[in-house]
Amino acid sequence: MAVRLQVDVQCGACGALTHQGDPPQKFCACCGAAFERYCLQCRRRVDMYFEEWWPEDHHCVRTYTPAKRCPACNSGLEVQTRDSSYNDTSYNH
Ligand SMILES: [Zn+2]
Ligand SMILES: [Zn+2]
Repeated sequence: MAVRLQVDVQCGACGALTHQGDPPQKFCACCGAAFERYCLQCRRRVDMYFEEWWPEDHHCVRTYTPAKRCPACNSGLEVQTRDSSYNDTSYNH
């Protein structure tokens, strides 16, 4: 039997849950904070980590949370708002 995978992202700034569909959301619908984090020190993209739980045998809920620290250099990661990334080319489509 197929497993139904539900993916949510928890905002690192306000804690609101955003359901990920297709296409995936990049910003919190509640406060506008970006889900992707970039380390300002070593300029890597930092992956979110996730936790899974199974409300039913064939239903998996995976909740992603933005990392608070860079795994490479251990510096704290700032929350980037929609306003500060407004001029990114990736935003304009
Ligand atoms: Zn938010
Ligand atoms: Zn880093």
